[in-house]
Amino acid sequence: MEQQVAVMNSFSFGNLRRPVIVGISMILFATLLCRVEGRCGESSTKQPNDTASHVKKRVLIVTGEDYKGHLWQTTAPLLKVLIRQDQRLAVDVVEDVNALRSPRLREYDTIVLHFKNYDPETPGRAAYDNLTEFVDQGGGLVVVHFACGAFQEFGSEFTTLAGRIWNPDFRGHDPYGEITVEITDVDHPITDGLAAFNTTDELYTCLDGKTPIEVLATAKSVVDNKIYPIAFVLSYGKGRVFHTPLGHDVAALGNSDTAELLRRGTAWASNLNIPAVKNQPDTSSRPANITTSP
Ligand SMILES: [Zn+2]
Repeated sequence: MEQQVAVMNSFSFGNLRRPVIVGISMILFATLLCRVEGRCGESSTKQPNDTASHVKKRVLIVTGEDYKGHLWQTTAPLLKVLIRQDQRLAVDVVEDVNALRSPRLREYDTIVLHFKNYDPETPGRAAYDNLTEFVDQGGGLVVVHFACGAFQEFGSEFTTLAGRIWNPDFRGHDPYGEITVEITDVDHPITDGLAAFNTTDELYTCLDGKTPIEVLATAKSVVDNKIYPIAFVLSYGKGRVFHTPLGHDVAALGNSDTAELLRRGTAWASNLNIPAVKNQPDTSSRPANITTSP
């Protein structure tokens, strides 16, 4: 734990100020956290102690900037909770995308991209090269939701790492609403044993690229009736990459099947066997349409 704190400090964690979280999103997050971790009555900002973290795979969620409709202040903590339900995974969150510049990335097994930068200098070329080297040398990478829009300044170069990236010339996504996710690769460890499921989220129609990928799950657009990838994997050097466009908000991430997919994808990227956990938080009363984005 002390080591983790030291690492976090090195990432300018002065930016780890507690965000002002208001209204229904905070209520939703607190409710989901309560359900998922059984932490009802505790502060949602309290960080549990990761005992025996030295034997766990270490995951770093990188966040801190995104499209204004993406409330990373609430989704990142929930993402941490969902991933660490696989007790083999110890998860840190850094709210500074410049952390990707640090050589101390190599103290982690997997990096989760949960941001979209708008300044091409932040985190910039040094961070991008550091990240690609990390994965090339065997590190895991997980790309969540609008992280496909990160590193736009590097164009198709990012496609080779993320598999598919946001093309702003494409239609962005279907209206936030119900999506039926079909499992198309039942032989892959991430989706082995998973069934089709429904969720309320954004179906991304904006992904572009020709990098070879292995599609694990798809969904049909209600707008154009075309089939789009919902989860896919690829290799980058010695590293494993898992990418899903799911996870617009806390309600979407709180869907138990989406959470399972993310958890398995992160474990797989970390070179762990699958599955370790089949946790099913109750999302039956999940509210919908709390936020929208273009
Ligand atoms: Zn979104």
